[in-house]
Amino acid sequence: MAQELPLPADLSFSELPWEARFAGLFPGDPEAVNFTRPVSEITHSVTSPTAVRAPTLLAWSDRLATELGIKKSESGDSLALLAGNLVLPSMRPYAARYGGHQFGHWAGQLGDGRAITLGEVETKSGRREFQLKGAGPTPYSRRADGRAVLRSSVREFLCSEAMHFLGVPTTRALALVGTGEAVVRDLFYDGNPREEPGAIVTRVSPSFLRFGNFQILAATGETDLLRDLTDFLIADHFPNISPVDPDRYGLLLDEVGRRTARLMIEWMRVGFVHGVMNTDNMAVLGLTIDYGPYGWLEPYDPGWTPNTTDSEGRRYCYGNQPGIGHWNFARLCEALQPLIGDESRLKRSLELYREIFEREYPEMIARKLGVTVPVEAAELTAYREEIEMLFGLLQSSEADMTLFFRGLSTELAGAEDFLGMLTPTLYRAAPLTPELDTAWRAWFSRYRARLIKSGLLAAERIQSMRAVNPKFVLRNYLAQNAIVAAESGDATLIARLLRVLEFPYDENPSDQDLAEKRPEWARSAPGCSALSCSS
Ligand code: AMP
Ligand code: MG
Repeated sequence: MAQELPLPADLSFSELPWEARFAGLFPGDPEAVNFTRPVSEITHSVTSPTAVRAPTLLAWSDRLATELGIKKSESGDSLALLAGNLVLPSMRPYAARYGGHQFGHWAGQLGDGRAITLGEVETKSGRREFQLKGAGPTPYSRRADGRAVLRSSVREFLCSEAMHFLGVPTTRALALVGTGEAVVRDLFYDGNPREEPGAIVTRVSPSFLRFGNFQILAATGETDLLRDLTDFLIADHFPNISPVDPDRYGLLLDEVGRRTARLMIEWMRVGFVHGVMNTDNMAVLGLTIDYGPYGWLEPYDPGWTPNTTDSEGRRYCYGNQPGIGHWNFARLCEALQPLIGDESRLKRSLELYREIFEREYPEMIARKLGVTVPVEAAELTAYREEIEMLFGLLQSSEADMTLFFRGLSTELAGAEDFLGMLTPTLYRAAPLTPELDTAWRAWFSRYRARLIKSGLLAAERIQSMRAVNPKFVLRNYLAQNAIVAAESGDATLIARLLRVLEFPYDENPSDQDLAEKRPEWARSAPGCSALSCSS
């Protein structure tokens, strides 16, 4: 019998085999003093985190740590590293240079204004970068302080992990550290700044490269550096693309477009609204990145955005996300044009995004409904009508998106059963109007007929529907409850939410209170429905 090798023991954060590969491969900032400035001909600035007074570990993702082979440590060098109070000799922490289109306009240089990458580690699950968000000023901080408040850090920590366990590609979060220092923020931008507790999230990703890292090099005509960075991205993260393929940049765009389209489909599936889809907040690996004023659809409404800064234009509302993903991707294609030249090649990548979305989005909706997309033309037209009818009804009835689809993932014997499921998912105070009642019955009877045609056994259908229709999502008010508790020194709700959100598709009846409709008090409470960018 072959002898089993013992699994290598997990290491503490400070014992990890830290490397400074990116900082070693690419030209860094020749200016070593940390002050805000425009830069050129570099990809990053080596910048140390600024130490904080009294760090405490508020939350830790055991699941991520186990995946990576990291042992939890709440004190000593590991905590000091997570707080930005220590830099190991093998590290060369840096802030990345990037630009971006913000709300549709080119904003020029942005960069990591408060995120500092500590370094890279070859973990049990592959190479990862570890980044502290809120670790103090960098050359890219512009007029801001480089810090993050506890409330936005709790939101980023929990949502990163929740998205991962929902199966949505995302950067991860390992730790949440309270800094013991206050940060001043004007929450409502109404001239009332106040002190809030500060925090740092340790983010983890195979790469934090954004569309904007490439855009800034194209915008300034730094084509050699643009080529080097793009070749690096291909070599490091797209092993299926040959580094000598003459079409490698086109193939890279195809892949980024494919991933971005699929990411949009995933956001739509779970009812996630990012809130600030600027091109500096789009990861080239197709991951959800930069959790700011994001939110979850509660009453189904494609025009909804949680971001108060966007409440006029609603550029980044739920229903616009796939189109904005395409627009952003077009900006990345333009950025790589100097490497490709041939405009028709870029058009092909852009077209591919559309094709993927148009094919896979209806398949995703069909999976949520437990049906299959019909192939026959007349049948397909009827099906599309049913989908349109459904979304119209969800909106006009103010149905909770998560509860509705989860409620549908069960055995519904007839219209009465269905309406019995539907009614408690509605945010309308009054009962259904006769018109809505009739329309819902009509929809349900068509849906029933389609289910029967699909031929799946109820048990199979329910199982597959429950695997795509989560029961537990990080509703805004739940995150807010965890924040309020954490601000008064109690981090237990963060831990509980994390534990439940790790299994979002389970029935888990003992945590039913976390799967309820948004309570009435949270309808317009700050932090629960509308969020500012102040973070
Ligand atoms: P965001 O809206 O969070 O994507 O941030 C846009 C830009 O502002 C990025 O370059 C951030 O690094 C920067 N930024 C946001 N908040 C801060 C802060 N508190 N200190 C420094 N830079 C910040
Ligand atoms: Mg950002």
